[in-house]
Amino acid sequence: MKTYRIACIPGDGIGKEVIPAGQEVLQALAAAGAGFGFAFTSFGWGGDWYRAHGQMMPDDGLEALRGMDAILFGSAGDPQIPDHVTLWGLRLKICQGFDQYANVRPTRILPGIDAPLKRCTPRDLDWVIVRENSEGEYAGVGGRAHQGHPIEVATDVSMMTRAGVERIMRFAFRLAQSRPRKLLTVVTKSNAQRHAMVMWDQIAAEVAREFPDVRWDKELVDACTARMVNRPASLDTLVATNLHADILSDLAAALAGSLGIAPTGNIDPERRYPSMFEPIHGSAFDIMGQGLANPIGTFWSCVMLLEHLGEHEAAARLMQAIESVTADPALHTGDLGGKARTADVTSAVCHRLKNR
Ligand code: ATP
Ligand code: MG
Repeated sequence: MKTYRIACIPGDGIGKEVIPAGQEVLQALAAAGAGFGFAFTSFGWGGDWYRAHGQMMPDDGLEALRGMDAILFGSAGDPQIPDHVTLWGLRLKICQGFDQYANVRPTRILPGIDAPLKRCTPRDLDWVIVRENSEGEYAGVGGRAHQGHPIEVATDVSMMTRAGVERIMRFAFRLAQSRPRKLLTVVTKSNAQRHAMVMWDQIAAEVAREFPDVRWDKELVDACTARMVNRPASLDTLVATNLHADILSDLAAALAGSLGIAPTGNIDPERRYPSMFEPIHGSAFDIMGQGLANPIGTFWSCVMLLEHLGEHEAAARLMQAIESVTADPALHTGDLGGKARTADVTSAVCHRLKNR
């Protein structure tokens, strides 16, 4: 029987609660006759590691992860450590170290969830946002000089390469092609940013020729936010730069009902390295350690992890179990207006996997 090696990095805050819940659900799936097993290895990196060692993860951390089949990540963020230190010291270090250049964020309104768009049925909102995850606005290029002086300057350069844009565009077209509607919206800001974003548009048109069966259009990022609210059904797959997609996917998560539900995958499409799956929410220190965190975002991330491993049947089983749990308001956590606890939601999903 195949055993998948999964690295678990709970990180900070509620990551320490939702990742063990994710492991429990994956074990329940394996125990329910999925036909494969898991070997989990946990890594205690994050804020606590930083306080003990002065860094978020050890220098040879990537080496420890390299042989894994996939990574399940919680969240990195600690009120005592600057946000850019936690982000660059752990999550981005893994994303960049393993060239996980495609960040994939599915959004749907799950059964039983009271989403804010009242005119929108679950059928109207079924998106996947593809975020360029390796360059652009978050390339880390820039600098700061003359700190504290009147002539102080600071720059963050949005750096885009032809190779980087071509590969994310190809990934997005391929993903759109695999979905029933075969529809891709290329998000840009090429009216105001007239260098890199114009190249982005040009490369989109070039790559589009390789996918004649995919319908595609262009949308400016500001107009796109309005379109997500006013005409959600006109969108299916979207591709956007690192910063733009970051913002669009928080909006998407909110429109689907809660940050606590939304999953994401940081994917190396070439499979040279392990890919990493995580809920999109942060460490949420306001509710940490109380058993109140919604684990659904982590469970849905586990569905993405299984799909990445090629275990489509098991992924569909887990998604069904998740949807039958969200359909029951008695199993909603506080972020969804309910009173259920992390453990209630976890055992309900495990129970449905055992007794389907
Ligand atoms: P970070 O700084 O790591 O981004 P954060 O404290 O900003 O973390 P977010 O994840 O951005 O936290 O979430 C904002 C708020 O939404 C949290 O403070 C929390 O109240 C709520 N929230 C987020 N995720 C969940 C969840 N899984 N379950 C319940 N509530 C959540
Ligand atoms: Mg936050």
